[in-house]
Amino acid sequence: MIILQHHRRPPSATDSLVQQVGQRVFVIVCVTRETQHHCLVFFHAREVSSFHRMDTTPAFPTLRVVSHPLVQHKLSLLRNRTTPTKIFKELVDEIATLIAYEATSELALEEAPVETPLERMTGKRVSGKKLTLVPILRAGLGMVEGVARLVPAARVGHIGLYRDHDTLEPVDYYFKIPGDAAERDFFLLDPMLATGGSATAAVTSLKRAGATRIRFLCLVAAPEGIHRLAETHPDVIVYCAALDRELNEHGYILPGLGDAGDRLFGTR
Ligand code: URA
Repeated sequence: MIILQHHRRPPSATDSLVQQVGQRVFVIVCVTRETQHHCLVFFHAREVSSFHRMDTTPAFPTLRVVSHPLVQHKLSLLRNRTTPTKIFKELVDEIATLIAYEATSELALEEAPVETPLERMTGKRVSGKKLTLVPILRAGLGMVEGVARLVPAARVGHIGLYRDHDTLEPVDYYFKIPGDAAERDFFLLDPMLATGGSATAAVTSLKRAGATRIRFLCLVAAPEGIHRLAETHPDVIVYCAALDRELNEHGYILPGLGDAGDRLFGTR
């Protein structure tokens, strides 16, 4: 890390202490020997440090970008147009596991008695009912196994959506989740958050069924999709591997990785 500059004011409670601007990550730190009104801003150069916090940006308060080098390496392989279906599927699975690692970091814990071979102690376990994974059909299916590898006891619901030709709004054609939705944490899965139409409709359906704690896990997000989801559901945090530039006129993410469903299932 390199000290870049002194800040004239300490960060306010609402400032994120880790912020990304382009490729650069800034870390704002108050140091005791500084006067009360000065803080240090560190410029974090990835190549000289192993600092791997999730990136956040004030422009997208609901977004968490998992910038871990393994995730970014695998994502580049995934984007490559020549990557064959078998490898594509494996990469989606692996990245889903790594994103789930971050997305599970805020699950509530409770104390749990444990008897080790030597003595009794108080350990911890994830509290509450089993986590529920909900893939949006069909591309979301490609992420289920990867997430379930970390939480094998998770329940799996499903949401299928189609776009109504007249209203152009997404409509459920399939919806099945566990009955006690209000007591569970939900991970909604879809590799691509593009226009945000399906994501918003899927969250609305989950909430209608009683869900209150929902996180959205995807691989690539477009600014349009993040904004649309946040407008209707500002409580839903989005975890992704990359925030891409924009949508094209057909609703595909640029630079993106193409049609995730077709590439996963070899239907291109
Ligand atoms: N769905 C996809 O599979 N890819 C995109 O780029 C956008 C939506």
